[in-house]
Amino acid sequence: MKEIRHITCIRCPMGCALTVEITDGVVSKVEGNLCKRGVEYAKTECINPVRTLTTTVKVQNGAPLAVRSREPLPKDSLFRCMEVLKGVTVTAPVVAGAVIIPDICGTGVDIIASTSA
Ligand code: SF4
Repeated sequence: MKEIRHITCIRCPMGCALTVEITDGVVSKVEGNLCKRGVEYAKTECINPVRTLTTTVKVQNGAPLAVRSREPLPKDSLFRCMEVLKGVTVTAPVVAGAVIIPDICGTGVDIIASTSA
């Protein structure tokens, strides 16, 4: 089965408009990319899309703490991860880079503090 998707590469500010041909679940052709990073982006975005999660968690007696995933997470896991983070309260002091939740939702990716609190 063949499918054509139109996506925008977001790997750099050029924002190339990509036309991606997917054959039997595999990216078989990419057009519109000005460099090879566009091909890699198309493969990831069409077959296994990922996103870096950024949000905040509560701090006991303090302002919310900015946190993020150390690496991009599978897009279909973001909602579950956000639900987990909604229930998290940390206690200061927390240093930037500290692991807040290891291996969130079994993804193998840690949630870390973006700043200190
Ligand atoms: S294909 Fe290359 S030049 Fe175009 S947006 Fe992606 S990274 Fe930038």
